[in-house]
Amino acid sequence: MTLFPIFAQLTGKPVLVVGGGSVAERKAQSLLRAGALVRVGAPTLTPALSELASQGRISWLAGNFVPGWLDDVWLVIAATSDNELNAQVAKLAEEARIWANVVDDPANCSFHVPAIVDRSPVTIAISSGGHAPVLARRIREKLETLIDHSTGSLAALVARYREVIRKAHPQLSGRRGFYDWLIDGPVGGALRSQQPEHAETLLQQALKQPQAPAVGKVILVSAGPGDPGLLTLKALRALNEADVILYDRLVSQDVLDLARRDADLVYVGKSPGENHHQTQERIHQAMIDHARAGRKVVRLKGGDAFIFGRGGEELAVLAEQGIAYEVVPGVTAAIACAAYAGIPLTHRHVSQGLHLLTAHSALAQDQPDWASLAREKQTLGFYMGVTQLPEVVRQLIGHGMRPDMPFALIENGSRPGQRTLTGKLEDLEHLAREHAMQAPSLLLIGEVVRLSEQLHWFGQRYDHLSEAVLEAA
Ligand code: SAH
Repeated sequence: MTLFPIFAQLTGKPVLVVGGGSVAERKAQSLLRAGALVRVGAPTLTPALSELASQGRISWLAGNFVPGWLDDVWLVIAATSDNELNAQVAKLAEEARIWANVVDDPANCSFHVPAIVDRSPVTIAISSGGHAPVLARRIREKLETLIDHSTGSLAALVARYREVIRKAHPQLSGRRGFYDWLIDGPVGGALRSQQPEHAETLLQQALKQPQAPAVGKVILVSAGPGDPGLLTLKALRALNEADVILYDRLVSQDVLDLARRDADLVYVGKSPGENHHQTQERIHQAMIDHARAGRKVVRLKGGDAFIFGRGGEELAVLAEQGIAYEVVPGVTAAIACAAYAGIPLTHRHVSQGLHLLTAHSALAQDQPDWASLAREKQTLGFYMGVTQLPEVVRQLIGHGMRPDMPFALIENGSRPGQRTLTGKLEDLEHLAREHAMQAPSLLLIGEVVRLSEQLHWFGQRYDHLSEAVLEAA
């Protein structure tokens, strides 16, 4: 039998909850949110229900169930722990043509309470007809992750402008195009970015134009270090909605596998013989062209786009060209490698701060302040340039760092095949060679590395640190 789904308008209508325990409490609260006049019938109440009763927000029918409680209510929920009593309530309700729900007893229900995703005024209700509540809950969880919380404010905005939009676009096809733009374009984007006034201004401007503007935009999405479990929900949503995905070398296949099936996946990393400048120019042009053609572009970068990812440069180009964009942050390699190697980046009495650098800087014109980096009680994270590590070691030791300062070199952090090599700084060069450490690898330096002895939990670890204990002051 198929159920007929309805959304009931209960504002100001008396409804009955039989039972005063925690289940009854949850039901009473959701009925209250819908504006119903809630009566709770039970000999005793939970503290929260008592509180509601003393505030006059529910009425308490104290005592055991009597049929008279059903007089003039619109619906009833039986939520006592007594199955027979619940069934009796349902039977009497049926006779009086009052909708009845018995919690966890579908056979005695004349209506079911669905699992919901609440983006008021948008509500998504899911029912398995009482056959598989676990499955309904799973579907609900999935939808919760996919539907942005700004959906509610979008619906509220649409409600206010519905008439105006209908007048501006009297033809159905034009109106559909306008709504597509409204939802997918900069108005939806502004609401996701918590800029409701800007969203409204954009909507008003667009209403003055005869045609719906193009929806093209770019989402700069940080893909994390490789383990797809480290994507944010926002990144996953963007991958689900993209028309075209421009990705770099460090984005893992496992992450790309999560993209919408019919999205165009375009590799834009460096091609053979091309210099960085050319690569960057080509990426800028690709973003601009796809967005101008009205596509939803995801610019997908490994780790976090704003940490040695040139994300800022790419956004600057979009800003200059007046193309709408959003940014989704991600787990950067240093954070992920540290977590997956069991190395807290700061630790009481051991490390008070963290510096993120590139190994390239050891050879660059613009040198970092090595003397301050060589100091105790901090953690250094070096990205890129495994081949430049000897120069990093030389600079640090040359500026006063202890040659026996612990390091960890983490290869393929968070990916299958992650390897962690730990040792003393002075031994870094030959150990890295001995273990044939490859890119992508991240170097962590500091006393915190010793904690991995106890806390390491993922992948292989090759330990060349002395048996010395953690030097906690
Ligand atoms: N934006 C990226 C960094 C890009 S630079 C981020 O936030 O992580 C590229 C360097 O990042 C690599 O050379 C390597 O040092 C580091 N890296 C990226 N992914 C890594 C991984 N899974 N394991 C180890 N190092 C990684």
